[in-house]
Amino acid sequence: MSRHLPFSYRCGRCGRCCEDMRIQVNPYETARLARGLGLSTSDFLARCTRSGVWLKAKSGGVCVFLTGDGCSVHRDRPLVCRLYPLARHRNSSGGERFACLLPRPGSTGTHGLDGEIEDYLAANGAAPFLEQADAWLALFSRAWSLFEALLGVDPLLAALASDIRLLALDGHAPPRSRLLDPDLVAGEQCAARGLPRPESPEETARLHREAVDLWLEGPGRARSRGHERAESLARLVAGLGTGLGVNMTSLFQHVSDEDPPGAVEMDEALRLGADFL
Ligand code: SF4
Repeated sequence: MSRHLPFSYRCGRCGRCCEDMRIQVNPYETARLARGLGLSTSDFLARCTRSGVWLKAKSGGVCVFLTGDGCSVHRDRPLVCRLYPLARHRNSSGGERFACLLPRPGSTGTHGLDGEIEDYLAANGAAPFLEQADAWLALFSRAWSLFEALLGVDPLLAALASDIRLLALDGHAPPRSRLLDPDLVAGEQCAARGLPRPESPEETARLHREAVDLWLEGPGRARSRGHERAESLARLVAGLGTGLGVNMTSLFQHVSDEDPPGAVEMDEALRLGADFL
């Protein structure tokens, strides 16, 4: 579906879409949520996420931020929550399409045709989140290219890729990466350049991406000379891809099978466990 197809959705505030799902978060969303809660991103990642890539769930599988009054972080909720019940798919050529998810059992939300997908995105403040997701996906693509290039010369990376793929197949989050902690990484970047610490999540994300890019050009690019460097690259790729909704199982499958590289594509909306209409 394109942005101009008829679509509308009225939320019934039943909270069913916030149960039994894995809500992915990318570094920008981490910075937004942490700022809104008055936490450093390090504290937010430790307290509110699983490995920095999915929001934690309370008992019963309910999102950690769902309360009796609805979403307690509504102003800063992640993109997948803004898109719901839509999913956005980006392909490797940069194309975009939308799909509609099946209603959750017991959902009181109602679908309609009183507008366009574009209107729904605007009403849910999705634009900055879509822009950030695309910027982080571009960085992920660069990291993935480097990862693939080093695989052939570093058997340690292949072993790490295989371990992470097994974790994903079992439904586990990848190991956490310190390179995906926005305040930590952007803060180090500011200290090195004598810049003040960024205030806004957007500026934090920009500096964060610059720092990760520099890392990829330097230590990340160098042929691995030890476990630590290879592990950092594997963790970065696995964590960033998972937080963006990239199908890491499929990408790592190609690596394991020595098939041609898989295309880097992203599915936002997944709230893993959801089915498409
Ligand atoms: S962040 Fe808010 S909208 Fe998203 S799943 Fe959690 S409670 Fe629901």
